[in-house]
Amino acid sequence: MRHRGFAGTTETIVPRGSSSRLQRLCACPAGWVVQYAAEMFIGAQMPAYRVVNDPGIRLIMSDLACCALEVGSTVTQNLIEAETAAHEPARINVVLISGTVTKALAPVVEQQWSAIPEPKVAIAVGACASSGGPYWDAETVVNGITELIPTSGFIAGCPPRPDVIIDGVRSLVGSL
Ligand code: SF4
Repeated sequence: MRHRGFAGTTETIVPRGSSSRLQRLCACPAGWVVQYAAEMFIGAQMPAYRVVNDPGIRLIMSDLACCALEVGSTVTQNLIEAETAAHEPARINVVLISGTVTKALAPVVEQQWSAIPEPKVAIAVGACASSGGPYWDAETVVNGITELIPTSGFIAGCPPRPDVIIDGVRSLVGSL
């Protein structure tokens, strides 16, 4: 599996194998609210979407914090659409992990990933999921999902724009 990153669509932003330890608490109130909701509902449902311009790409969302709001905006911008029975079988499952990954949520992310059928790739959306972002040195935060699951792409931003997210997904899938 190749590992790529995107700023816009091409720039790698995360040094893989970062071993920085986390030393202060996460201080993002919005993140805490969204994460609380995620802890309540993640795993209970994993809604699937298709990329409008390439419906063979099936998206599964792991929405953990504020970057998830930008992922959600891809729906309102008609970049993705909810999966229906009318869609053809997907050629690949793309898991978008967006937001701060706390150590408390890490097992849930791993469990969610293991539940996705092959073929599949994981993409870190935003600085937090890629490297810990502004909370990289917090004791409660994981330094990016590479510490948890095989990760094929990284989309830069805090947060990245909705169109950049979908450009990144399509670029990654196109390179496989
Ligand atoms: S990268 Fe920025 S916008 Fe995204 S979850 Fe982290 S703090 Fe929030």
